[in-house]
Amino acid sequence: MRLLILLMLVSLFCGCRLFSRPADNMNDPFVQEMMKNAAVKEIRFKGKIWRVCMKDSTYATIGETMYVDERMWKLSVENRVATRLRSLIIHESMHTSRQLRAGVAFWMICYFTSTTFRWEEEKVAYEVEWRAEMVAGETYTDEDYEFFAREVSGAVYHGMTTHDEAYRFMKETIVKLQEERKKK
Ligand SMILES: [Zn+2]
Repeated sequence: MRLLILLMLVSLFCGCRLFSRPADNMNDPFVQEMMKNAAVKEIRFKGKIWRVCMKDSTYATIGETMYVDERMWKLSVENRVATRLRSLIIHESMHTSRQLRAGVAFWMICYFTSTTFRWEEEKVAYEVEWRAEMVAGETYTDEDYEFFAREVSGAVYHGMTTHDEAYRFMKETIVKLQEERKKK
């Protein structure tokens, strides 16, 4: 059993690297600005094979490497979508920091086998993502809560949480962050 888990992890790490290539716009000053002080250090473009199990809009981070869809990444960079890109990198960097602290392999096992663990990890990552967006002036509506609730309770995260729980989490977190900002 232990060997099987080890084999699965090794193929996951090797597979991700093998079926991806380094982002070719890392020297763009805008990209460098976005990556400043981030725990994520490397961006790689997902190969077409990733589409078998993952939507283009889904990002994956293993250790200090973040895997992105080339078209979507380049579109964000060309259009200088700073807030969204920065908050995304902050979200994934939270995963990186916590993976490095827990041990990447151990974190991965927990993430793929426990829906509770997965939801807890996503909650801390979404919180820092929204905090960064709010600092940049972003506001949210019921429609955003609904979109988020549908996304994280859907197939992408494989039954990580329910729609209502996710909706409540986002609403409560946004209120908490608004209070936090008022105090400053
Ligand atoms: Zn995440």
